[in-house]
Amino acid sequence: MQSKVPFVNYPRQYKTLQKEIDAAIKRILETGELILRQDVADFEQNLASFLGVKYVQGTNSGTDALIFSLRAAGIGPGDEVMTVSHTFFATIEAIHHCGATPILVEAGEDFTMDMDRVEIALTPKTKAIIPVHLNGRMCEMDRLLEIAHRQQLIIIEDAAQALGSQYRSGNPGWDQSWRKAGSYGLAGCFSFYPAKLLGAYGDAGAVATNDEKIAEKVKLLSNHGMKSKTEFVDYGFTSRLDNFQAAILNVKFKHLLEWIERRREIAWMYNAGLSEAASVVLPYFPDERHFDVYQNYVLKAQNRDELAAFLKENGVETLIKDPIPLHHQPALGLSHFKLPYTEQLAKEVISLPMYPELANDQVEYVIKCVKDFYQE
Ligand SMILES: *Cc1c(COP(=O)(O)O)cnc(C)c1O
Repeated sequence: MQSKVPFVNYPRQYKTLQKEIDAAIKRILETGELILRQDVADFEQNLASFLGVKYVQGTNSGTDALIFSLRAAGIGPGDEVMTVSHTFFATIEAIHHCGATPILVEAGEDFTMDMDRVEIALTPKTKAIIPVHLNGRMCEMDRLLEIAHRQQLIIIEDAAQALGSQYRSGNPGWDQSWRKAGSYGLAGCFSFYPAKLLGAYGDAGAVATNDEKIAEKVKLLSNHGMKSKTEFVDYGFTSRLDNFQAAILNVKFKHLLEWIERRREIAWMYNAGLSEAASVVLPYFPDERHFDVYQNYVLKAQNRDELAAFLKENGVETLIKDPIPLHHQPALGLSHFKLPYTEQLAKEVISLPMYPELANDQVEYVIKCVKDFYQE
């Protein structure tokens, strides 16, 4: 039996786009345009103009986008790269796969990197920082960029959860216009995993950058270091953005802004419906610096596991992300990091259903169930 409110609902979105998606797939099957064809080039162009960056290079996942960006930036053995433990594991994996050492710092109240902890955790070996714009909210970029300029650190943004999210600097000497996630760092990394805001029907990712050399290096790494059909100029990988996925993403791209608006609308409904509930802490609201896109809607909840079980019994699927904090996973060798707030979050956070196809009455039902659980 399907839940009253499933956590994701891919078929519902497909139905609204069926004609265009089917036509794109049929066209590719009939023409045999499978690897690195026009659809990939079109998608890279679409994303570059959306983000306002010069170059976008497709990859086969967000994880590879991170790995290739770090390698293109010259990160390797002996270097340290700082990020958070409160992220999806790929951020930390990417650092590891470059041969570098991850340095993990705390999350702050809005679930993104606590900028107060950055400078004290730096060492002479720290070369780069990966801010993770978690749940569709950008990190406090003014603080981070100021530190990065002063300490000469490379910024690679993990924007996998933040396509379309924006930040506006309040620093009088800087550009104070709204700028999108992925356009602030030396490179910005995106994932189009199906559950992401813009989701492929499989894996896909991309790197955004204004740096021609980074773009070129990522391109080589993603395709066997092939500069042309006869020239191999690097040791690379098979990590191209698939042409089918690119064609699907091009169809979906046209709906991105309307989907972001709908997510924000749903977030306002949750916020309004739950604002009186004393047992949950709502996500940070956007302020004059942040335009949040609500990749996820995440609460801090008392008796979190009981709440999740109660919601499940009532047909509402939720997600509990990493009940064991990543730095406590025994196999990873990261347990020397002491991050009490991250550990507390692992016990408290719960993601409610959040996707544009949710109907208002489903959102109201989720709110009612949460309130019923706490009898508030
Ligand atoms: C999804 C995600 C990734 C990795 O993306 P894949 O495409 O699944 O490899 C990286 N970082 C964060 C924060 C993510 O949410």
